[in-house]
Amino acid sequence: MDKNSSIRYLKGIGEKRAALFSKLRVFSIYDLLRLYPRDYLDLRAPGGLPPYGDGTPHAVSCIIVGKQAPARIRGGLTLYKLRASDGKEDFTVTFYNTPYAYDRLEIGQETVLYGRVTGNLLKKEMNSPQIFSAANRGLVPVYPLTAGLTQNLVTAAVKAAFAAVDGLPDPLPPELTARHGLPDLYTALRGIHFPADFHQLAAARKRLIYEELFQVRLGLSLLKTEAAACSAPVFHLSCTEEFEAALPFALTGAQRRAIDTIKQDTASGRPMNRLLQGDVGSGKTMVAAAALVLAAKNGFQGALMAPTEILAVQHYEGLSPLFERLGIRCGLLTGSTKAKERTALLKALGDGSLQVLIGTHALLSDDVQFCAPGMAVIDEQHRFGVEQRRRLNEKFGCGHLLVMSATPIPRTLALIFYGDLDISILDELPPGRAELTTHLIPEYKRADMYAFLKRHIDTGEQVYIVCPQIEENEENDLKNVTGYVEALKKTPLRDVPCGILHGKLKPADKDRVMAGFASGETPLLVSTTVIEVGVDVKNATIMVVENAERFGLSALHQLRGRVGRGSRRSYCLLLSENAAALDRLKVLCRSRDGFLIADEDLKQRGPGSFFGTEQHGLPELKLASLVTDMDVVRTVSEDAAELLRRDPALKAHPALRAEVDALWKGGAIL
Ligand code: ADP
Ligand code: MG
Repeated sequence: MDKNSSIRYLKGIGEKRAALFSKLRVFSIYDLLRLYPRDYLDLRAPGGLPPYGDGTPHAVSCIIVGKQAPARIRGGLTLYKLRASDGKEDFTVTFYNTPYAYDRLEIGQETVLYGRVTGNLLKKEMNSPQIFSAANRGLVPVYPLTAGLTQNLVTAAVKAAFAAVDGLPDPLPPELTARHGLPDLYTALRGIHFPADFHQLAAARKRLIYEELFQVRLGLSLLKTEAAACSAPVFHLSCTEEFEAALPFALTGAQRRAIDTIKQDTASGRPMNRLLQGDVGSGKTMVAAAALVLAAKNGFQGALMAPTEILAVQHYEGLSPLFERLGIRCGLLTGSTKAKERTALLKALGDGSLQVLIGTHALLSDDVQFCAPGMAVIDEQHRFGVEQRRRLNEKFGCGHLLVMSATPIPRTLALIFYGDLDISILDELPPGRAELTTHLIPEYKRADMYAFLKRHIDTGEQVYIVCPQIEENEENDLKNVTGYVEALKKTPLRDVPCGILHGKLKPADKDRVMAGFASGETPLLVSTTVIEVGVDVKNATIMVVENAERFGLSALHQLRGRVGRGSRRSYCLLLSENAAALDRLKVLCRSRDGFLIADEDLKQRGPGSFFGTEQHGLPELKLASLVTDMDVVRTVSEDAAELLRRDPALKAHPALRAEVDALWKGGAIL
């Protein structure tokens, strides 16, 4: 039977069961073979009862020696009790409301029961154990289930699937499986479902993990090749000198290198797809500005999309004077832009009189139409969903794309997450940055800390205080913005004008609060992490983070990046009553290197700390882990590059190509 036939053709699977399987996203026989067990029961050597109930599940080889009549007890519960013997001692086996299990077991029958053994030394019991035939040996698969499907049903279906296919062609090129000593597909699938031992299981997993990452990586590379196939606007005119002359400072070497690369990309006739990674404060905005100016001077339009209104406004206010000096018209479009202004902006965008549009995801509306789209820039790209990135990219058709991120992700992770992008790194901070130190503040020094903050505010400096939540919450005693502001009234900070910022405020109110802080009118800002991204107030010198254990290292590094942006000595003060978190937080006291911190974060919390799963846009990984399988990521990246060099569209590997396409269906990055 063809592996792509519906599972309906398998013995024992009718319409109803097929519908249940579809909930596990299993439609074809091949899908079923790819439904990997989530665990295994060890039935290699079932033994007698363990001497004591040690709480872990055991496989007990036994014979049924007695059956009691079912006993109905309160609440409609029926107990089905049996007696069994392991040859040395008897024990009670109880099933609750499951006549099926009870009926299956006959007196005199040999069987293997799998479960926890409870009771005491003299009287042992097993409650609701799983039943296996005495002939069952090896590692027994445990499948993900959905209501209506049982382990036995799924196992039988998988067996039927193996029986129905006669061998499976291996999509991986044989030279690769040979090079890495990997079993072929059929052997690997047998090994993952019904391994004889852990050795076989490990070999199967190795092969399937390799294959999974290899296909993800190939998909990314193919995306990249396809993107490069369309012809993009060519920016002939270089305008760097004019641009630099309009700046109040000289560009850093790293900024200049990034801009040069962008110039090369945009002069090539191929669309640029570039990620600009740079630590907080490395000056990514200026690189974005250069890219937008480049587009405008070459007669194209550009967009800069930021994840929050605060940030969009900040970009607009920071960049529009610069653009004006260069004779470039620039507008701001957010959710709170007034209808009349919006209409005017869209008209100017449509007739080309507006060259740069800065904004939030409001830029993605259907009626936002560029007449000469050339350059799309996405700031803090990890804050956007895949869908939003894709939509902006679509608006720009074959235009150039620059995505920027201040979350330096570990290089190996970038191979997977940004495999379809070229990467530039800003590895140099602009000069004149003040010293910034980070300290863990024990609770008993809280009063001293407030006095310290007061002294600094008195000399004209500004302070951020970040709390993990907005309001008091009955379920925890985490610090909250509202309660905190109240509590400050009992400290030396009581008379300091204080702004309050959080995600529940209306955009206009947020702006007002942010403007008050930026102008120095309110030297103190108590906030949730909404200030995390991008905000730039040079006069702010102290960042206090309450319940610091609640945040990932990368997020804390971001928060810390809000201070130390001017010339005054700056501080990041972390408070946490969670002793276990202290070691983790110490990394921040030791290092200001975003990459090192990101690596540490990856080790501590996994890749989820960088991207929500729904955000990263990668196909779901079934077996591979981006933490433990990092070395495989490196291997597959090299192998994929080598294969595509020889066969750029995988024409000689149609089966592999089909699998890659299926894997990426609907889930492509950007
Ligand atoms: P980020 O990379 O975190 O987005 P920004 O672009 O906000 O950093 O830049 C941080 C600060 O550094 C801003 O105030 C910006 O004006 C300033 N800056 C950027 N480039 C330079 C430079 N070459 N020399 C001096 N200051 C710079
Ligand atoms: Mg920024």
